[in-house]
Amino acid sequence: MIGESGPTISRCSRAGCLHSAQWNVNWRNPRIHGLDRVKVWLACDEHVDYLREYLGARSFPVIVSDLSQSVEVVPDGAGL
Ligand SMILES: [Zn+2]
Repeated sequence: MIGESGPTISRCSRAGCLHSAQWNVNWRNPRIHGLDRVKVWLACDEHVDYLREYLGARSFPVIVSDLSQSVEVVPDGAGL
């Protein structure tokens, strides 16, 4: 049916990945983002660990949450 809007599918943020996302990867770069800033990547089951480790390797605090669950603050040291 034309014009019918189905459920929105959120796609994984990993480059080239076409899977739908299952997770929010909430993170912050403490050098440029204040505590009130939260960046969010979307991740599928396959890439959630990849993205978490990618950020952790840069010493960025990161919190992985369910796709439906938003995170207000990513405190320093989260996920490390
Ligand atoms: Zn993926």
